[in-house]
Amino acid sequence: MSAPNKSYDPVEVEALQPQQIEQMRDEALAAIAAATDLDALAHVKTAHAGGGSPLALANREIGALPPQAKAEAGKRVGQARGAVNKALAARQGELEAERDARVLVEEAVDVTLPYGRATAGARHPLATLSDRIEDIFVAMGYEVAEGPEVEAEWFNFDALNISVDNPVRSEQDTFFVAAADGSEDSGMVLRTHTSGVQIRSLLERELPVYVIAPGRVYRSDELDATHTPVFRQVELLAVDEGLTMADLKGTLDHMVVSLFGEGMTTRLRPNHFPFTEPSAEMDMLCYVCRGESVGNPDRPCRTCSSEGWIELGGCGIVNPKVLIACGVDPQKYSGFAFGFGIERMLMFRHNVEDMRDIVEGDVRFTLPFGMEI
Ligand SMILES: [Zn+2]
Repeated sequence: MSAPNKSYDPVEVEALQPQQIEQMRDEALAAIAAATDLDALAHVKTAHAGGGSPLALANREIGALPPQAKAEAGKRVGQARGAVNKALAARQGELEAERDARVLVEEAVDVTLPYGRATAGARHPLATLSDRIEDIFVAMGYEVAEGPEVEAEWFNFDALNISVDNPVRSEQDTFFVAAADGSEDSGMVLRTHTSGVQIRSLLERELPVYVIAPGRVYRSDELDATHTPVFRQVELLAVDEGLTMADLKGTLDHMVVSLFGEGMTTRLRPNHFPFTEPSAEMDMLCYVCRGESVGNPDRPCRTCSSEGWIELGGCGIVNPKVLIACGVDPQKYSGFAFGFGIERMLMFRHNVEDMRDIVEGDVRFTLPFGMEI
């Protein structure tokens, strides 16, 4: 900074000449007007209103003026700086308003746009269908029973009157579990049906026994459009005094009415299973055409292939040999049992054409079923 002058020297304080001050002010105002965004304005503010700006330096020079010149020079510089600061503030306000308006547009959220959130998934329709079947039987007083998926051969076969030479026991159908020492004869299998749960129920519970056993079962099938090596079954067992085929038929009819609506019924066709005697194959009336497609080429039905009935599963009166194996007196007690595959029911109930869609767990398959089916 210059030392105070003893006398007024116009050359030494040229920076304080009116034209110079006006020029500094005009340059500052022009730069402010030319700033197109807040960053540019911040630079303009430093250059034209900061501590090192021409006007600030000029202001410092005032101290070097003789007393008689200080007031006038101070007024000129002060007015110029005031004008610059006022212009800065005004431009700041304009640019902030512009930015706010732009941000409102650019960052606006369109709540109607589809969102990219990862979906939470959906309950598998097999689980909801299984639950619904369980509910029907729980409402009739049945108990839901569970058992191990790795099952002793005795529970899976012997107790059910499936002899050692029965073809279902062969390796074509059954996954045998190797023993810990690597030998093949561990006496354990992956259960081929949930019938072992029925045996366990008879052994564990007091009579009468009314149980439903849903669960995964295993057969050594390849996965294709109609087969899967792992599938779900629901089996039912009722053992009480005086139960007959009529009780079985009434129970089956109630189940299909509950699942498919009024007017549904079932029919039984003779069959043979080791664990029931007599045994029957059970069919349910086609819930789509109600049998009207039979012999009626004008109304073909895809669901039942125009046969009027859909095969559901096997059933029968519990073989006395099974009751004896479980310590139940067949002279006093009788029972009925039936079982069917849930995948198969899901397929014809919802026109699922490929088994692989059911087992692959793709949420695009399960989502349309929602939580309830
Ligand atoms: Zn039909």
